[in-house]
Amino acid sequence: MENGSLSFANIIIDISHEKVDRPFQYRIPERLLGKVEVGSCVSVPFGKGNTKRQGYVIGITDVPEFDPEKTKEILDIEEGEMSAERIMVQLAAWMHKYYGSTMINALRTVIPVRKKSKALVKRYIRLGMRERDAGDFYSNCVKKHQVARGRLLEALLENPDERIPYELVTGKLNVTSAVIRSLSEKGVIIVDSEEYYRNPVGDVNSQRKDITLSPEQKNIVDSVIADYDSGMRQTYLIHGITGSGKTEVYIKMIDEIISRGKQAIVLIPEIALTYQTLMRFYRHFGERVSVMNSTLSPGEKYDQAKRAAEGDIDIIIGPRSALFTPFPKVGLIIIDEEHESTYKSETMPKYHARETAIELAKLVPGGASVVLGSATPSLETYYRAMKGEYKLFELNRRLTGGTLPDVEIADLREELRSGNRSIFSRSLQEKLAEALDTGHQAMLFINRRGLAGFVSCRSCGYVFKCPHCDVSMSEHRGGMLICHYCGHTQPVQKICPECGSKYVSAFRAGTQQIEKEVLKLFPKARVLRMDADTTRTKGSYEKILSAFAAEEANVLVGTQMIVKGHDFPNVTLVGILAADMSLNASDYRAGERTFQLLTQAAGRAGRGSVPGNVVIQSYQPDNYAIISAAKQDYKAFYEEEISYRELLRYPPAAHMLAIQIWAKDEEFGKEKANQLRAFIDRMRIQNAIIIGPAAAVIGKINDIYRMVIYVKHEDMEQLAGIKDTIEEVLGEWEKLGYLRSIQVQFDFDPVRGF
Ligand code: ADP
Ligand code: ZN
Ligand code: ZN
Repeated sequence: MENGSLSFANIIIDISHEKVDRPFQYRIPERLLGKVEVGSCVSVPFGKGNTKRQGYVIGITDVPEFDPEKTKEILDIEEGEMSAERIMVQLAAWMHKYYGSTMINALRTVIPVRKKSKALVKRYIRLGMRERDAGDFYSNCVKKHQVARGRLLEALLENPDERIPYELVTGKLNVTSAVIRSLSEKGVIIVDSEEYYRNPVGDVNSQRKDITLSPEQKNIVDSVIADYDSGMRQTYLIHGITGSGKTEVYIKMIDEIISRGKQAIVLIPEIALTYQTLMRFYRHFGERVSVMNSTLSPGEKYDQAKRAAEGDIDIIIGPRSALFTPFPKVGLIIIDEEHESTYKSETMPKYHARETAIELAKLVPGGASVVLGSATPSLETYYRAMKGEYKLFELNRRLTGGTLPDVEIADLREELRSGNRSIFSRSLQEKLAEALDTGHQAMLFINRRGLAGFVSCRSCGYVFKCPHCDVSMSEHRGGMLICHYCGHTQPVQKICPECGSKYVSAFRAGTQQIEKEVLKLFPKARVLRMDADTTRTKGSYEKILSAFAAEEANVLVGTQMIVKGHDFPNVTLVGILAADMSLNASDYRAGERTFQLLTQAAGRAGRGSVPGNVVIQSYQPDNYAIISAAKQDYKAFYEEEISYRELLRYPPAAHMLAIQIWAKDEEFGKEKANQLRAFIDRMRIQNAIIIGPAAAVIGKINDIYRMVIYVKHEDMEQLAGIKDTIEEVLGEWEKLGYLRSIQVQFDFDPVRGF
């Protein structure tokens, strides 16, 4: 082998042990020269026993690390396995650098699970009988409360000539394959299986409904595409209320992009992956679009990734991980509801899909445009738009008809003063009565679950807390106390363990309590409840929403889950029971989250022809987040919020690194956290603001103590430098065995408090 040829590969061995984070060097045998490339999945002999292992090539070099004679050789390229795209490996390297996780974790995040599956088949479901007979069958299902069957038939009857992709039926409609089989045996439906053919001709786009864009919408599409054609790659923000036509704009942009031979990625928060939205994309793009969601099996995900890699699809829609679809020619990345916290990963690497999308857009050949959309943009995004880093478009008209609701703030202090001890203000009670009397529906929304239902002693103030976590437990039906962090359960005690008094009771404002109160005031109301308890099983979320949409109930009580997703034209009243609960959360995003939730919740009323009412109940009616949400005034909120962030150097005014230290032993954890702080101090970084270590907001979960150090700095690179230094320290600590009892994680610009 001649010198100078690129004949050594640095390889990450795909073994689950987290600490194996360094590449190993192997020689590329002659027969594989030129075939092994960055991102190739290869098999190599590993360890003393030379067991055959798989690894990813993360670099190719002509510089041997050790004696070339002793360097082991790559055995083979793994055939039949999909090679990680070079872009994805580069993206992983970027994530590794900026979010601080192991390279192997970063690779696992961006590379889909390798799972062989059968030939690529696409399955569809269509009606197998005449429409009228199917209609009869449907009525029968409804009568017999066969909800899954009912849902499927309803969807099929909505557009009787249309086929529905199988994965949507099992996924979004949550119909099991057993039900599908049984219906198909009865001849009610037909399942078509088609081998997936490449480059399908015709047929695509056959069912698209043609919409003429409004001048505002057209202007957005035209500007972005003109930029694209002139070679300009940018990030754009569409600030537009729900129903202002953003999705239609996305669809037209994608049309343009794919007509230029490029591909598009559309990210939506998992919760917004509604059947209706997905069908809009299927109707428009036919087989060229594919949906990724958590209900797909690893085999199906692999199929999808393969189709994407081979250019069989042009558009992928899914939650944040859809970003890692191995598209060779991405031209456009859309992130809808860009402010959603689900775009931030909560596991290492704790990447943000928005930042990662922007990086990916730079890495793809030719570059891609990034379009962000939201009714309540994140402070980060709007800040950058204001600075001209992102181009801003506004859509201010609701195209769905309906008027903006009438919003009223009910002062709960005032209610108490006038002797109203109910959890409903008088105004909300009146409006609820009116909505029910007139045959309309109402949604009652409580901001947070964890705080509600906690049990305390009225005499001494003792609060029942979980023995393993530093949080209060909630009372549930059956006289049990439950910890929502670890699941610990214990019976409610009647006597205060602190002072012995009998005045032990729950703070009653949880979803169950609201349901009870509604039924007490309106015995004839039909109430559905949606919270973490009622949505524990798969598909229950959709079931509750579709039952409410079918007007099987007239009141829907729930946590923040109910403010997203479906449109309910018959809802004329939205009540927000304790608007300030999330304001009291102790992190800097509390105001932003409150504003977003209230704005979204308020926007749920008056979607149909009848004007809507919103009642926001609050103990802090003067708070700017509440006032500006009531006025649906994003700009007013932004101005207040950004001046506060600037004052305190919180993101987006600066960047923030949270270093979390978890320890089984509190003292040892504190000692190590203090040492980390000392290391950071010693770096003497100009203009850095360092806070802590301090106990995290929840100081203990599952008997693990949690501490946190915050570092704020304008320059992300400086923070990344701190992370690198600490990683070196951790390398030393690892050798000393400290990391058996503590764990350290990094979170840049965290979106949730700790
Ligand atoms: P958003 O994504 O902002 O919530 P959508 O794109 O879903 O808004 O639009 C809301 C509704 O208005 C949809 O039913 C859509 O089909 C319709 N719509 C959007 N743009 C137009 C248009 N230019 N002409 C007619 N209807 C439109
Ligand atoms: Zn007591
Ligand atoms: Zn607990």
